[in-house]
Amino acid sequence: MRSMRWILASAVVMLVCSSVLADEPAAEAKPEPKVRAWDIPEILKRVPPLKHDNTGRLPMICITPFAMNDQDKSYEEAKPLPPEVIRELKARGLTQRYPPREKYIPCMLALQKEGAGVVVVEDSAFNGPGGSYPENEQPIPGTLHILPEGYKGLRRPGQQPVFPCPLVLDGWKLKADSYREVFKKFKDAGIDVTGVWLDLEVEPYHMEAQWDEAKNCSRCRKHFPRGVLDDFNKYQGFIMRWRANVFGAYVVAPILEVYPGISVTNWAEVISSADIPAFGWTARGPRPPHGVGLYTAANPVVYGTTLYYRQSWRRDADPNWPLDVPHMDRLYTQLMLSQISTHEANARRMAPELLSIPWVDRFCADDKDPRIPILSRERYREILRHTWLRGADGMQIFNPVWFEEDAVRSPIVVEEIEDAVAIYDEMLAYREFLDDGVTMDLTIPKATHDGPIWSGLKLKDRAVIRAFTMAAEPVTATITPFEGGPEVELVFPPKGATYLLTLKDGKIEAKEDKENKAAAK
Ligand SMILES: [Zn+2]
Repeated sequence: MRSMRWILASAVVMLVCSSVLADEPAAEAKPEPKVRAWDIPEILKRVPPLKHDNTGRLPMICITPFAMNDQDKSYEEAKPLPPEVIRELKARGLTQRYPPREKYIPCMLALQKEGAGVVVVEDSAFNGPGGSYPENEQPIPGTLHILPEGYKGLRRPGQQPVFPCPLVLDGWKLKADSYREVFKKFKDAGIDVTGVWLDLEVEPYHMEAQWDEAKNCSRCRKHFPRGVLDDFNKYQGFIMRWRANVFGAYVVAPILEVYPGISVTNWAEVISSADIPAFGWTARGPRPPHGVGLYTAANPVVYGTTLYYRQSWRRDADPNWPLDVPHMDRLYTQLMLSQISTHEANARRMAPELLSIPWVDRFCADDKDPRIPILSRERYREILRHTWLRGADGMQIFNPVWFEEDAVRSPIVVEEIEDAVAIYDEMLAYREFLDDGVTMDLTIPKATHDGPIWSGLKLKDRAVIRAFTMAAEPVTATITPFEGGPEVELVFPPKGATYLLTLKDGKIEAKEDKENKAAAK
């Protein structure tokens, strides 16, 4: 999650401030603990338990660890949550996430005792060059590029202060060993890990700064396949395929050796192909053709990032539009359905067994300009329905605390959970489709599109589909939901409708499910 950089930066500022304050005269009495908008008591108050059974399905996790109040440091100090809290979270389809560190074993055992899933989430995204894990900011000796004197390089991403040579694997070997060791310890402690969802946003990567440095490195010149370093497109394709294989061998394999068959994914891992190129995490594309190596799950990114305004408004919006919520909602809809749809279109034909566990987020404040409208909750809920119907098997809720002291925006942290759980519960009514259904329409709606938009899951001659339009009035349109089958005319209302379809005697019977609906927001 690139956005975490900002949060870490503010944490550093806070540390600096506290050290200044430490010189002040004797400290006053400790204030009473304060329950913040996103703490457990508020979550339990605002998020009702699931009405539908989710036994056997993957739990959802949140990026902001669950805490009782502002003084509860149990996550940081690796103290288990109380059993009754674990049970309450489980009833909402949620579990606490923990990093792959030995000290969290008691916390994981506490989750397991209550039957909550144990999901390991690597949250130190910005972990230097490949191989510097764990918590070692120093590069592995002898792995960095060998550059001509005076070489300045292009601007590097914040999480990568230096670049190692991507074809030198010494650092990766250390990383593999450290994963093997820690997961073995989990296994020996009797932990049954449910999933490992990583956030390694490190080299090898396909951007320009990395290419420029490799191109100028005398060792990379010797190692890279002929011609790859002289052409950016060739470099991009090569490095993304190399990345999937390096991660497969040195990150995924060591985990699967200990825990065969569990879901393992990493930040924004998706499939891209020559005829259906995937979009990047901010819906920029196209990505070169690449697979996901040994990962058993993909991780499409479904973020309402405010970056979209500067990045895509000029390209995708109508120039006459005012900058307001309804029009930004249109842009968010197009961009948030981009990566998951291209990935699913590729996965459906190349790797239908691959799980899809997207990161979802209504408000990703990568651009903090307060004039950029935040995605409305109603549209976010609509997008979440389509995310499930475009192949999601689970969800990771990205709900960072962007504006801690902001009374209007800080409750969004808990609203993110409220929306994700409510829509999950609504979709669980169609559980057999979520578990075994095949995705149907994956068209990415353009921001200016006023026609029908739909997604669905089918099981032989039955399907559940969600239909809506971004137009102000309902749209009536004819679609062919079962490939090669008959057409059906449906109404696509602005507030959305869920239909159950049955194919019988060459005709489609469509019944709107009006009863099952999460409360409107
Ligand atoms: Zn190099």
